[in-house]
Amino acid sequence: MRSTALRSTLVWLALALSLGFAGAPAFAQSPQVPVRSTTWDQVELLGQRVAPGERARLMLRVSESFAGFSVDTPVLVLRGRVPGKTICMVAGIHGDELNGIEVVRNLFEDIDPQEVAGMLLGVPVANLHGFRRSSRYLPDRRDLNRAFPGRNDGSAASRIASALFESVVSRCDAMIDFHTGSFHRTNVPQIRADLREREVAQLARAFGVATVVHKVGGPGTLRGAAVAARIPTITYEAGEPMRFQRDEIARGVEGARNVLVYLGALEGREPRGPAETFYRSAWVRVNDGGIYLPTVELGDAVELGDLLGTITDFISNERSEVRSPWKGRVIGMALPQVVIPGFAAFHVGIEGVAEPPPVPMPGTQPGLPSPLLDPEDHPG
Ligand SMILES: [Zn+2]
Repeated sequence: MRSTALRSTLVWLALALSLGFAGAPAFAQSPQVPVRSTTWDQVELLGQRVAPGERARLMLRVSESFAGFSVDTPVLVLRGRVPGKTICMVAGIHGDELNGIEVVRNLFEDIDPQEVAGMLLGVPVANLHGFRRSSRYLPDRRDLNRAFPGRNDGSAASRIASALFESVVSRCDAMIDFHTGSFHRTNVPQIRADLREREVAQLARAFGVATVVHKVGGPGTLRGAAVAARIPTITYEAGEPMRFQRDEIARGVEGARNVLVYLGALEGREPRGPAETFYRSAWVRVNDGGIYLPTVELGDAVELGDLLGTITDFISNERSEVRSPWKGRVIGMALPQVVIPGFAAFHVGIEGVAEPPPVPMPGTQPGLPSPLLDPEDHPG
């Protein structure tokens, strides 16, 4: 079987020694502060050694197939030539969300480890079970993004989450998690981030090429668990599931590179100025069943009371209207389809909401599960 508490402690000790830290860091330091690491040598990751200036493709055993074969998730490594932060990119937690997979692949193919300061870790497909079946979920219908940080004796989702969190995420000084809209919905390219937390807000703004939406990471999400473990993490949400979309992928690559420049991992131009920010967003739900057809487009600005779409009863031909309860912008929406009352059709970024005050994060140690985020409390 995999780890025990003792082994987990030993992993942490080995990690601290290999990275030259005197003790576990709090939030990753701001770019102005020199990195504490005084040595920079080969690193041991997932049983293999990676030397400075090298790239590697490692395998993390996260699960088994029904037939008992090992299910190994690829982990891409770019070990920089000089010291710096460890920055992580995770995609495919939902197996049908493809844009992020291509963002991570592009980044790790294009970046030369010789030009990197620090180390980049990439997980292009976190949910291989779902990816193989073109499904958001695991084979038991659990959502992997409700299972972090996971437990090695928990559900299938919890075990996969635990393997990823312990072997990869706990090493990260900062992280981007890549998603798309779910189930016939599409999103304006946007960064979701807990803007109450300074380091997280800085990452969100450094991305530079996507709308920023304040959203606290939900229980069991990778972002929520990572921030609770004091790893600044943002989510890039762009486009639709089940598709590779050129513009959303290109924007994801550009924004991720901006974050790498901001964190000192790559040389380059400072990212553009702050992007449009919404401190509150909400879904507009429909009150009738029938054929849903939007009358606005993704990204449209809307006024209070503007028509967003119609629902037509295909038996009686009665038509009802869906109007915006807020002034703002359509940052996500459902594609045309048949719906029932309560269906979430339009995600509106609401204008005129004040910035939330900063709050201190829970005082957990890096990599240790937060008592607030026990995934077993949030089944499914
Ligand atoms: Zn997702």
